[in-house]
Formats: sequence, structure tokens, C-alpha cells
Amino acid sequence: MSKIKGEIIKYSRMLNSRKLSALRSGNISVRHKDGFFITPSGKKYSSLKNADIVFVTIDGKFNKKKGIPSSEWKFHQDIYRIKKEAKAIVHAHSTNATAVSTHKRGIPAFHYMVAMAGGHDIKCAKYATFGTRNLSKNILKALKGRKACLIANHGQIAFEDNLAKAFELAEEVENISLQYITSLKLGKPKILSFKEMHKVLSKSKNYKKDN
Ligand code: 13P
Ligand code: ZN
Repeated sequence: MSKIKGEIIKYSRMLNSRKLSALRSGNISVRHKDGFFITPSGKKYSSLKNADIVFVTIDGKFNKKKGIPSSEWKFHQDIYRIKKEAKAIVHAHSTNATAVSTHKRGIPAFHYMVAMAGGHDIKCAKYATFGTRNLSKNILKALKGRKACLIANHGQIAFEDNLAKAFELAEEVENISLQYITSLKLGKPKILSFKEMHKVLSKSKNYKKDN
């Protein structure tokens, strides 16, 4: 248990140090038994201790005396409920992903690497107030057949089968967002065809099998 909490704290600090999410923004969780451990609400990552990491059951129960979970615990809960393959989730307000999300648009196949999110594009979840079940519903829709998406006027979210991979996917989404913004400065990028993306998606099943 303390190993999972230590890992959550390590990656929470990396949200700041890798410039993926500034100050207290974003949150991280890891599935454990019949629930998940999640970062507390509104605490600076630099000051996090094991005791600050909150356990929430898959039915959404937690002991308030042991700490208040992230205000976004509902979308973490719903992702773990619906996506059985999800073992860790990273939510970030990374600058470039957030910038694209404020245009309420996803990222098309302007680069084959959008396949990292699991499909032919990266979707953008519709806006809803943070912490609400509505936001959670919108995110699940954008995550259909995907393991990462943007969240309109908010940021991005990525899940994977472990925390290191979820964090790396969030970094990929941020990098792709920066490249997309840069490409848009030159005009409208040429989008890869469905057929080309299909080839990439078939190949990427065998990519990064080493770790
Ligand atoms: P929490 O500190 O409550 O996790 O809020 C951060 C955030 O990103 C809300 O969307
Ligand atoms: Zn957020």
C-alpha cells in the first residue's frame, strides 16, 4: 500500500517538474483491489505525504476523516468502472493540450502519433463543471476506443495499465498538442487517411513491447 502511495507522490511531483501540470492542478490515481488511491484535493504536490493519499472504493465511498480526495474522483471512479484495463490515470492541465481544448476541438491524424491514444484521432470531451458526473459522462464518451482525450476548456486525461505508462501517454498527448498548434501556424495541415492510420494502428500493437 505504501508502495502505491509513494509511486503516486513521485509522479504527482513529476507533474510539476516535467511541466505537465502547474502548482496544484491535475490529479493522479492508481487502481487497488476494490477501489483506487487518489491524490488529495488542492494540496501542493511538493508537500504530499503518504497519509494524504486517499482511498476511494469503486462505489465512490471514502472516509472524510482520512482526507478529501481530488475533486475529480468521480471521473476516476467511472473510468475504473467502465475500462477494466485501466490501472492508473493521469489528469493534467498541460499547456498545449489545454490550449487546443479551449477551441473545443480534438486532434485529427495530422501526425501518425495520435495513434498513441488508441485510435484514428484524439477526441475532446465536451465541457462540464469540474468534479461533476456530467464531466465524467463527457469524458467517457471521448474515451470510447481510446485511452487519452482532451477535456474542453480544461486539459487532458490519460490512462494505462500502470502509472509510468499513463504518465508517459499524458506526456505524448502534450507533445502532440504542441506539434499540432505549431502545424496550424503554417495553415491547415494535411490529414492522414483512414487507411494510413489503420496501418499505423495495426503496427503500434507491437510497438514498445520492451517495457
Ligand atoms: P484537485 O486538486 O481537486 O484534484 O483539482 C485539480 C484539478 O485539476 C481539477 O480539475
Ligand atoms: Zn483539472
